[in-house]
Amino acid sequence: MTQATAPSTLEFTVSRRPDVLPDAEREAILANPGFGKKFTDHMILATWTPGEGWHDGKVTAYGPISLDPSAAVLHYAQEIFEGMKAYRHADGSIWTFRPEANAARFARSARRLALPELPEADFLASLTALVEVDQAWVPSGEAGEASLYLRPFMFASEAFLGVRPAAQVTYCVIASPAGAYFSGGVKPVSIWLSTDYTRAAPGGTGAAKCGGNYAASLAAQVEASAHGCDQVAFLDAVEHRWVEELGGMNLYFVRRDGSIVTPELTGTILEGVTRASILELAKDLGHSVQERRISIEEWREGVASGDITEVFACGTAAVVTPVGRLAWEGGELSVNGGETGSTTLAIRQALLDLQYGRAEDTRGWLTRLV
Ligand SMILES: *Cc1c(COP(=O)(O)O)cnc(C)c1O
Repeated sequence: MTQATAPSTLEFTVSRRPDVLPDAEREAILANPGFGKKFTDHMILATWTPGEGWHDGKVTAYGPISLDPSAAVLHYAQEIFEGMKAYRHADGSIWTFRPEANAARFARSARRLALPELPEADFLASLTALVEVDQAWVPSGEAGEASLYLRPFMFASEAFLGVRPAAQVTYCVIASPAGAYFSGGVKPVSIWLSTDYTRAAPGGTGAAKCGGNYAASLAAQVEASAHGCDQVAFLDAVEHRWVEELGGMNLYFVRRDGSIVTPELTGTILEGVTRASILELAKDLGHSVQERRISIEEWREGVASGDITEVFACGTAAVVTPVGRLAWEGGELSVNGGETGSTTLAIRQALLDLQYGRAEDTRGWLTRLV
């Protein structure tokens, strides 16, 4: 089932819908898009079967997908996804950030979920094809941080009730205009430390970007909300001691001496593209960076003693999000007085400047889509 070395063979035939949203209505959405609520006029579809490999690639009208009620994904959750953004630069051109990294992670997730790999060239071609057709949906970057969020995903569409890898798989890309994640400026979030629930165990699917991981995190998210927190932080499943990540974002700690630390990848943490990029950007900004294990005691005691001065979370959707408060059963502490720290803001700005073409792309991290 491995297709990793398969050359790009997938063509995306374009069928433009005649009934695209009128300009005025689209502009009204782009003026205030929210996140993940509105979708563009078109989407990508492609199908995989063992005999034909990937085939039938198309750009088609966005709309409901017809699935047999026995489609395997609805029962056994054989599904993976990616999340990335298209950024409009000041000259009108449209770019995306490190798409090869997302393509490679999509292939790793596919291997873990016994899904067929989509070759990198096909993954990139699908993004270009969709953004080309729906380019009017990419907001202007001038106003700050608006973008077009891209959501490639793949699922077992074969109709059968049996536990084995599906012999029919659907690939799809949808796109959704996204405003600044924080309307009204960056605001620190509060984090609930989950001691009952874990997100990922050794040998499990924690390093794969699959819907099932998110389904399993929801009860902990409900618990967080019940305790007045915005997000959940998960500890390792073996010792319940080592800090891993949030439900959908990686974590960073800033220390008094200016060094920054992020939990090392042990197979149970999702390798974020944002996380990996910050490891390099922070060095440019003069910070020493470390990937190592961080215990929950180190977090609590470090904040209390002032050794840890800032904590932030990172991911494509929210970029860099300051953490202002940590709460757990029986206690809480505020981080940096509940305020956004200067290192967090500087790293956030460096990343955004690169993505929006305001800083020189010395590492070749940007790929032009349109
Ligand atoms: C997607 C995701 C992230 C962030 O990854 P980016 O590539 O930076 O967007 C972090 N943790 C989890 C669990 C995720 O699913």
